[in-house]
Amino acid sequence: MRVLIIEDEEALASAIARGLRQQGMAVDLAFDGLSGLEKASVNDYDVVILDRNLPEMHGDEVCRRLSASGASVRILMLTAARGLRDRVAGLDLGADDYLGKPFAFDELVARLRALARRAGPAHPPTLHRSDIELDPATRHAHRGDRELELTNKEFGVLEVLLAADGGVVSAEELLEKVWDENTDPFSNVVRVTMMTLRRKLGEPPLIDTLPGAGYRLW
Ligand code: CA
Repeated sequence: MRVLIIEDEEALASAIARGLRQQGMAVDLAFDGLSGLEKASVNDYDVVILDRNLPEMHGDEVCRRLSASGASVRILMLTAARGLRDRVAGLDLGADDYLGKPFAFDELVARLRALARRAGPAHPPTLHRSDIELDPATRHAHRGDRELELTNKEFGVLEVLLAADGGVVSAEELLEKVWDENTDPFSNVVRVTMMTLRRKLGEPPLIDTLPGAGYRLW
């Protein structure tokens, strides 16, 4: 799951990013409205966390333009204002959800997961395929009765492969969804993570490599 945080309070933005990365999410940051809108137009995010009071371009305007662009990205607006009128105004601009500051981190995570589920094709919160079971909310994955001890990236890759439901997922798509913009697109992180993930999944092998196309989980 890939998230963009647009928030000009850099300490807060970095703290949120750190927490979300620990949850296995790929997180990018923007500290003003304009650069946030630019990143959101270039990259494929599941959810944008958008502060309202932003320099360069107000959060309301960012929200209006993002939702007008027709992108499938979900928008979670943060605002210090807790009044109902502000909340309704935010939703009218095309925000999908709203969270008043200050908020509990756990609530932010729960809202993000709920929004991400709405963003993609509908799939159940717990993913199953073959004898694999993965629960994104509790961060647990099993093969049969065996609990899999996965790193955040291995977990993220497995989650994307399961969600593809037998479809082929390209290395590029995995980079988009599991890593963030600081990752060199020509690096071999996907290949290396795939190798360690395969080893942890064990026998019989479940992940196919389709040369030039990507990966598929049986
Ligand atoms: Ca602000």
